[in-house]
Amino acid sequence: MIRKVKGTRDILPPESRLWNEVERTAHRILGGFGYSEIRLPLLEPTELFVRTVGEGTDIVSKEMYTFPDRKGRSLTLRPEGTASVARAFIENGLGQRPQPLRLSYFGPMFRYEKMQRGRYRQFSQIGIEILGAAAPAADVEVITALHTFLSALGFDDLVIVLNNLGDPEDRDRFIEGLLSELGPHRDELCGDCQRRWTENPLRILDCKVPRCRELVAETTPVAEVVGDEARAHVDEVERALAELEIPVKRAPRLVRGLDYYLRTVFEVISPELGEDTVICGGGRYDRLISDLGGKPVPGVGFAIGEDRLVEVLPESTRARVLDQRIVTVLPIGDGATGPAARLARELVLGGAEVHTEVTGRSLKACLKWSGKMDATAAVILGEQELADGVAVVRDLRHGRQETVALGGVATAVIDLLEKSD
Ligand code: ATP
Ligand code: MG
Repeated sequence: MIRKVKGTRDILPPESRLWNEVERTAHRILGGFGYSEIRLPLLEPTELFVRTVGEGTDIVSKEMYTFPDRKGRSLTLRPEGTASVARAFIENGLGQRPQPLRLSYFGPMFRYEKMQRGRYRQFSQIGIEILGAAAPAADVEVITALHTFLSALGFDDLVIVLNNLGDPEDRDRFIEGLLSELGPHRDELCGDCQRRWTENPLRILDCKVPRCRELVAETTPVAEVVGDEARAHVDEVERALAELEIPVKRAPRLVRGLDYYLRTVFEVISPELGEDTVICGGGRYDRLISDLGGKPVPGVGFAIGEDRLVEVLPESTRARVLDQRIVTVLPIGDGATGPAARLARELVLGGAEVHTEVTGRSLKACLKWSGKMDATAAVILGEQELADGVAVVRDLRHGRQETVALGGVATAVIDLLEKSD
């Protein structure tokens, strides 16, 4: 038997219905805020992520699926979406379109990580980016869209945490201070942090090793050393969100694991999964496109981990989506195949979910199958019924049935599906 690759998952029905609902809601709400989908390749030149996400980050230094293609070019299965959006923006001259440009993306990302609940090697993200807007209003819109989307899915207990990373100039000053404060304890840091010390010291702040966390907790938070402009920017974002009554908490030590963020950074945390399992991460990245060789175009966005979102979907949303009402159409005898297919088509166009019997079972077996499928209704099309121009519509939840003229069957069934509880 061939088994799936470690860290990948088969998402089976009916679970996949939850994914469909999350994506439908995302298209409706994020689309409503003006974000249109950009479909990006899963394969990118490795260089793209090295130059944007950053060499010293966990993603680039140990999580990427990188391999040479048949001509020896280094390719990487994308570990995140923003870098590809920035590449596509430059490559397709999207700066020529009316600005700002609002884009959304959906789909799988790949990271070679240790598997655990909510952490997979192939996982899916839903993200948006607004490009060409430097003002705090853009950050406010992105977080409002996020909050509206999560509310539409029934979430009311998620926590949005936010921090100010300052501008890249502030960061150098911050890192200098951080290293001098941590200096006396340098050899108590974990092996990874020893490497980060020289390669990318900011990443020491997202280390999950308890001793590293304790030491970091004693240092001066980044938000305290940022410059005036960055401070005013993020303060304004916070003020506007408060006015909108979108609850946001300051997290002074939040830095996020990608190098391109500056000023506003934020995460969404679920009380159920705890603060180590983040549902969504985002922030501002005003230098990303220019770092890739484009003109300076500011941007802000977020990426939601869809796997984690589905795992903590509120029970009421889950029940609503999984409570499927189906009708089985049961042709009995050869002559009934055509009329059954015609009726199925009519029911589908009327909005019903139809399962037509296509294996040639007996009536008794058909009804047993309908029971196993947990169907709400069944339509029996027997030889005698067809000769009389009628069908039997059976209400399986209440064990009642009635004979209905063929022309009225679809309406009767749809009525029954809607009224049934
Ligand atoms: P974490 O701290 O959990 O490793 P991250 O900071 O690496 O997350 P981001 O790069 O910000 O995550 O990606 C955005 C979102 O994508 C995360 O908040 C999370 O919900 C999801 N995500 C990231 N890595 C994984 C993974 N390996 N499996 C499932 N979801 C993931
Ligand atoms: Mg990670």
